[in-house]
Amino acid sequence: MGSGASSAQVLHVLRVSPDTADPAAWDPRATPVGPRSKAAARGCRSAVARRLGRLQEALYAEGVRGGRRSLLLVLQGMDTAGKGGTVRHVAGLLNPLGLRIASFGRPTEEELGHHFLWRIRRELPPPGRIGVFDRSHYEDVLVARVEGLVPEHVWRARFDEINDFESELADQGVTLVKCFLHVSPEEQRERLLARLDRPTKRWKYHPDDLAVRARWDDYQRAYADVLLRCSTPAAPWYVVPSDRKWYRDWVVARLLLATLERMAPRFPEPDFDVAEERARLLSADPWRGGRPSTEDNGPAGGG
Ligand code: AMP
Ligand code: MG
Repeated sequence: MGSGASSAQVLHVLRVSPDTADPAAWDPRATPVGPRSKAAARGCRSAVARRLGRLQEALYAEGVRGGRRSLLLVLQGMDTAGKGGTVRHVAGLLNPLGLRIASFGRPTEEELGHHFLWRIRRELPPPGRIGVFDRSHYEDVLVARVEGLVPEHVWRARFDEINDFESELADQGVTLVKCFLHVSPEEQRERLLARLDRPTKRWKYHPDDLAVRARWDDYQRAYADVLLRCSTPAAPWYVVPSDRKWYRDWVVARLLLATLERMAPRFPEPDFDVAEERARLLSADPWRGGRPSTEDNGPAGGG
């Protein structure tokens, strides 16, 4: 399944290591593991969805029965890298009941009055759920750094704060999957043009997007530091080549699947005696031997 790619391969190939922490080491158009064409990616989709669905249900069931584990997918990337599209794709593969989705824009006045992790903690997935973050606490070492929103000593200290926070999350049972959606400046230009040219996409455009684009190299350097400093065993970063949407979608779904497989959620054992409950249901059941007479059951043929 998955175009011959095993979970171990997918996790290994795309995982950031000290040698590959610089985005420049990655080609945003590459397909280093898994399907090499849109048709091949489409061919894997239903098998991935089926396996994801089953594991998600087991994780949810664990949570209902007192399990503490959850999974948190963090999506970061430049404008147009496809954070929103990825949320849509992933959400389409999962049961919405077990999802907790949050997006993080410019902090509100209230949020600015708190520590930068305050608003993040409030959106963490409850036990049994899969959380998806469209942007995250990493903005506080990306945009905050590049745009000079806080002094250098403040954002520099945040790398350690983030690592401590994420290792605390791991201890609490939150498994993190952090995805850097890696898009090229050429592809971004095409996507920004599409946002300007298509009336139904204009709402996604903001004139400030061009100022951010103009600082492309500064942002890539900031990402390089994030990937280098904050890809830890407890909370690894993965690079998702994102110039091709079908590949980006396949990778994120496959990383999610591989991570869930590692977590190996198990449907909980019942805390009651199944045989006894079965016998109780059958013996005390007024409908035993068929439906009761229709007189007791509303209008004939109704319901
Ligand atoms: P979008 O994802 O296009 O809706 O844009 C959200 C905007 O909010 C982006 O320009 C982000 O850089 C910005 N943003 C998100 N988090 C922060 C933060 N902690 N500080 C400043 N700006 C942020
Ligand atoms: Mg935007």
